[in-house]
Amino acid sequence: MNNESSLSALTVPLERLQRLEPIRTWQVEVSVAQLEDSEVPLRIGDVLVPSDHLVAIDLVLDKVSEGVAVSGNVAAKWIADCSRCLRQIDGEAIAEVEELFEQNPREGESYLLGDEFLDLAAMVREAILLELPVGVVRCVNAQECSDEAPNYADVKNKASQETSESESRDPRWAALDELVFDEE
Ligand SMILES: [Zn+2]
Repeated sequence: MNNESSLSALTVPLERLQRLEPIRTWQVEVSVAQLEDSEVPLRIGDVLVPSDHLVAIDLVLDKVSEGVAVSGNVAAKWIADCSRCLRQIDGEAIAEVEELFEQNPREGESYLLGDEFLDLAAMVREAILLELPVGVVRCVNAQECSDEAPNYADVKNKASQETSESESRDPRWAALDELVFDEE
């Protein structure tokens, strides 16, 4: 593991927060690969943030009595196949974060504050995952999408081939097909 490069971007040395003139902001770009510590891709269903994409991290750090409060934005571009016309579409997940790092983190509430470093990786990963669109994703421009729409049976076939766990299509999912995610 290359500690040097991941330290520089995803881990904040606490010593820098304790100086007379402490750093207040943390603005870095890291590759998604640096966030995938446990071979878990940044993916929700068919929506993926590829490993070679960058995540922009723009944070304000505040020393508080409990630990360190972190707020700001985390952003990354995602890709997916339009569920109707199967063209690749993309979008940007922009997460607003406001989190607390403390020495004894509470599960789901706060993140672990290390002895010497504040490790941003888990927080960044979770923030992006929460902002990825869920359910059926389609072209934003409906006109463009329907122009070359294949017949619907093809779309269903592709969907069931790609999702190994999906057997026959549950009719209850039909309601989800009506959902359109507008990225405006
Ligand atoms: Zn489309």
